[in-house]
Amino acid sequence: MTPSGPQEPELSAPPADPGGLTLKPFDVRLFRESSETTVAKLEKHLADLSLKGLSLTEPAVLSRAARALMTTEREHIAGYDEDRLAAIIDLYVRTGIQVHSPGYMGRQFSSTVPLAGVIDFVSSVVNQPSSFYEAGQLPNVVEKIMADELNRFIGWPADSFAMVTTSGGSLANLTAMLAARNDRFPGFWSEGSAAYLGQARPAIAVGDDVHYSVSRTAGVMGIGEAQIVRLPLNVAQQIDMDAVRPALDAAERRGLRVFCLVASAGTTSVGAFDPIDRLAEVARERDIWLHVDGAHGASLLVSDQLRHRLKGIELADSLTWDAHKMMFTPAPCTLLFYREKDKSRRAFRQRASYVFDEDPDVYTAMDSGGKTIECTKRPMIMPLWVVWAMYGRALFAEKIEYLCRLTRDVHRVLQAEPDFETTHYPESNILCFRYRPGWVREQDVHRLQMAVRDRVKSRGTFFISKVDVAGVAALRVVMMNHLITEEHFRMLLDEIRAVGEELCGNRQSDQQRVGGRR
Ligand SMILES: *Cc1c(COP(=O)(O)O)cnc(C)c1O
Repeated sequence: MTPSGPQEPELSAPPADPGGLTLKPFDVRLFRESSETTVAKLEKHLADLSLKGLSLTEPAVLSRAARALMTTEREHIAGYDEDRLAAIIDLYVRTGIQVHSPGYMGRQFSSTVPLAGVIDFVSSVVNQPSSFYEAGQLPNVVEKIMADELNRFIGWPADSFAMVTTSGGSLANLTAMLAARNDRFPGFWSEGSAAYLGQARPAIAVGDDVHYSVSRTAGVMGIGEAQIVRLPLNVAQQIDMDAVRPALDAAERRGLRVFCLVASAGTTSVGAFDPIDRLAEVARERDIWLHVDGAHGASLLVSDQLRHRLKGIELADSLTWDAHKMMFTPAPCTLLFYREKDKSRRAFRQRASYVFDEDPDVYTAMDSGGKTIECTKRPMIMPLWVVWAMYGRALFAEKIEYLCRLTRDVHRVLQAEPDFETTHYPESNILCFRYRPGWVREQDVHRLQMAVRDRVKSRGTFFISKVDVAGVAALRVVMMNHLITEEHFRMLLDEIRAVGEELCGNRQSDQQRVGGRR
């Protein structure tokens, strides 16, 4: 045995026989070799900024390609094969949505700050799952630091709020709403719904455009679809304040007790912000838990210019904040905030002697396992913290401000184009619009948008999405990449027009064919 104390391992000479089993794949020299191969490939990938969307591969074809890359060795541990690894990385990189390209405008996850990817790599090597302090000491400490850093923009007293990370905004919404239900219906955890038989039924109120994870949460909690009160939207696609109190009164008359009101800070479809301050007033009047789903838009809080979109956020009971959307970290990384620390433990009241100590000490007091569904959990805070620690808030603020400004600019571009219509003023970096050339009949507008989206996607230069706005399909762009310029957007419009001409030609020849047959 070597004496204890930090020592540099000898890498040039083979290590002394450590005993036990010698397994080549654990050889540290192979680690270096495979990392270098991978980094070189990723460097090339990041350097390619050509306009690319997604080239979709048929699953069967991709599956064949993947199988062809697997070793045929069945008896022994196969040797390390550099070429095989290189081919696997190539296939992985090539078949994804090209999130680094300015052609990618379709979804809410983004290219990540490269350093964030490097830290994720470290996380995978040191493997420190983060629900319990002893397993992930730095991740747990850093969660507290990031909570304090970001709470500066929310504004709760430093010693009374809480934050926990979850794997995604959907899980955060579920967790917060469980806490809300257990807070307002304390018998539910032990007795189930039977504790409230014959009483007003638990219900939630949501904007009509709420993310599907929220209505799914209701199902998970045993709250039926008939117990979801859908609040109508105004023309800006925000919850219409004139309709809120009447809708809640009507729900009460139907025998419902609304215990949670969900406001969206940045709806998924158009990026609209519900009026949190005014909804908070209603929630306070009626003793309702106010949850803000800021999965997309909470990041605007770090910008002095844009923070006002979440006016009243300090009045919320809980807030979902995805860092893997507008904080540009690898997915998933979600932060769930509670205004009151005690309530963060309401979601799960369990004893499990193998992990939860009865009397917390200075270490176990740091455990977050009591606040989340997850037990073994990725230390997802690390990439966010390291980028924040290295570059500070301004990196995030500058990028977010650029993306929101760009979206307003391209909205103005669209307004000057007679063959396009916009469906809303963009409050953030999501913009929906329709292609409406003179030749399209009113009843075909919906189908045309879908056909255009499909063709644009399959051409592989731009990746855009679609969403129904007020019941009619619209094209949707999400500006997540700071390399996108107004010029790129004009190129997209030209692409849409070119696709439109094709479709128009097809339609005419269809009609001729139909006419000929008649
Ligand atoms: C993306 C999104 C979600 C879901 O978050 P995930 O991290 O994808 O699970 C929830 N709500 C809103 C408003 C979103 O935009």
